Amino acid sequence: MTIYSRSDKQPAARLSISYSLSYDWLVRGRPEGDWRPILKEGLEYQEAARAEWEPLDRLVFEAYRAMGLKFWDTWRAYPVKFPEAVNAFKDPLTFPMTKDWEEMFSVLVHELCHLHEDHPGNSPRYQACLDRVRADFPRENETVQFHLLTCALQRAILMRVFPDRWKRMVNRGKGHPDLNRSWQLIDALERQIDWADPWKSLAK
Ligand SMILES: [Zn+2]
Repeated sequence: MTIYSRSDKQPAARLSISYSLSYDWLVRGRPEGDWRPILKEGLEYQEAARAEWEPLDRLVFEAYRAMGLKFWDTWRAYPVKFPEAVNAFKDPLTFPMTKDWEEMFSVLVHELCHLHEDHPGNSPRYQACLDRVRADFPRENETVQFHLLTCALQRAILMRVFPDRWKRMVNRGKGHPDLNRSWQLIDALERQIDWADPWKSLAK
């Protein structure tokens, strides 16, 4: 007899949300007391977050592909209860265990943009675009320059996948001063950016 788990019934998502107790502890420090309720909560979160993400997984990666970007086959994303002042990061993709799903989509897409930037198949395009941004905005710090490209791509993906909700989702991703500055520059460039392929228009 074959027992099918939920994930056997449909193709695995390219972004696989996976809770890991050890990794959670590594990031936030080992909590006091019984670990069992923490594991249970983590696995319940994993199921809930997968149910939200999986129907959108294909659309998100199609949106990147439509912009000519390449990606690895699958990527794990680890939800963690972040300590204060720790932000999501890309490698390994780690994000706060939030049940604000719009925030989760926005954060995951942001980190996926960074991962696309790192793919060697995308470097010529990325580099051309970054050179242009450095030349056009020489006084901005490096984080702002990098994030002008990351956040523009993030917005373009969110616009394609969530045409009704993208504005709210962009706002969910704000808060960090350097990122806020990048978003401010993007707003100022709004009409010059081709939202079907933002990097292409920013490289001109
Ligand atoms: Zn970032």
